[in-house]
Amino acid sequence: MDFSLTAEQKEIQNLARDFTRNEIAPTQLQMDEDHDFPYELWRKWSQLGMAGMMIPEQYGGSGIDPLTYILALEEVATESNTFALIWQVHVLVSEMFRKFASEEQKDYWLPIYAKGEKLAAFALTEAGAGSDSYGMTTKAELEGNQWTINGNKIFISNAGTDISDGTVLMAVTGTRDDGKKEISSFIIPQDADGYTLGQSFRKMAWHGMDNRELVFEDCRIPAGNIMGERGAGLRQALGGLNLGRIAFGAIATGLIRGCLEESLVYTKERHQFGNPLSSYQLTQAKLANMACGMESARRLTHYAAYLFSNGLECKKEAAMAKLFSTQRSTEAAMDAFQLHGGSAFMEDTKVNRFYREAKILEIGEGTNEIQQIYIARELSR
Ligand SMILES: Cc1cc2nc3c(=O)[nH]c(=O)nc-3n(C[C@H](O)[C@H](O)[C@H](O)COP(=O)(O)OP(=O)(O)OC[C@H]3O[C@@H](n4cnc5c(N)ncnc54)[C@H](O)[C@@H]3O)c2cc1C
Repeated sequence: MDFSLTAEQKEIQNLARDFTRNEIAPTQLQMDEDHDFPYELWRKWSQLGMAGMMIPEQYGGSGIDPLTYILALEEVATESNTFALIWQVHVLVSEMFRKFASEEQKDYWLPIYAKGEKLAAFALTEAGAGSDSYGMTTKAELEGNQWTINGNKIFISNAGTDISDGTVLMAVTGTRDDGKKEISSFIIPQDADGYTLGQSFRKMAWHGMDNRELVFEDCRIPAGNIMGERGAGLRQALGGLNLGRIAFGAIATGLIRGCLEESLVYTKERHQFGNPLSSYQLTQAKLANMACGMESARRLTHYAAYLFSNGLECKKEAAMAKLFSTQRSTEAAMDAFQLHGGSAFMEDTKVNRFYREAKILEIGEGTNEIQQIYIARELSR
């Protein structure tokens, strides 16, 4: 089995590693403190072609394969889960446009997203419909040549920045022949009438990422803003989530790597009872577990990314990568915290941030219980 990377994959991995070290690392602490969206960082990242990494070249993107994106995402996440998540949502939604939007929609939105001039967002979750997205109540009704949308979305990432535009919204558009809800997706221009942004949530971590409630009160958009087929919304959303789950595997792997790197340095420097912490076997056990978690999370994630890149079925593998990697990253964050002792309780330490960032990876992009349900369902097919 060949585990080697191509020259292009290594080049992009190195590019992401250098950017992470030189640009993201120095600004991460500030982002964590002031909770502001990192516009300048996003601009510089976009200039490297990263905003449009997976967008085909014909739309101004870099046309790079998903596995290479996953390699770069891990690099970013070693330093900043926040920036990794901002990018991940943008890539996920761009990919939905590539797969499901009309040629006209692609021609308009993909070049803008490829340049990073606008930021993409995806609005599925509602206060009463989290894991059970089918329970959504946001409605869209077609009247003449306009859709009228009413309802609220919650926790939505990337939708409320100064550069957000074209948020993909899921809404109920009627009842199907089998009596089930018909759900469709829509492209929402930021300046649509009747569309307003709620307050940005104050979060435990991912400071700098914008998360809001979105409010639709008789919001009117042109009939042509439906994305793809009417009634295909949930299928599109769930299809998009495969890439999202693989991406969470990479982000979790990056987080474990960050925890391990910090802990290796700290336990060598920190002396107690006359010796470095790293000389004690209880410390070594934690470091060894982190390293095993990182390697196995990475392999599972890369395998799922390989399947996805080759257009092969990967629902189970994507769910496994997400479930396993995020379980390991929570453990790694707790172990890294423990190894750093009281200093980890100080908010400006990296391990404190990793600890705050880890838990949400078990909830976002479909909770880990939902991944277990998917995996079990696929196993019993
Ligand atoms: C920071 C942040 C960013 C987010 N960004 C976005 C975004 O950009 N777009 C978007 O659409 N959404 C977004 N979300 C929403 C996110 O996807 C949901 O929070 C997630 O899907 C879980 O939904 P919930 O929070 O309503 O939990 P619930 O669905 O209420 O679940 C609560 C608990 O019950 C468990 N549970 C639920 N059903 C079952 C079951 N059948 N069997 C066993 N256990 C079950 C869950 O696993 C969980 O442990 C974001 C959330 C956060 C916190």
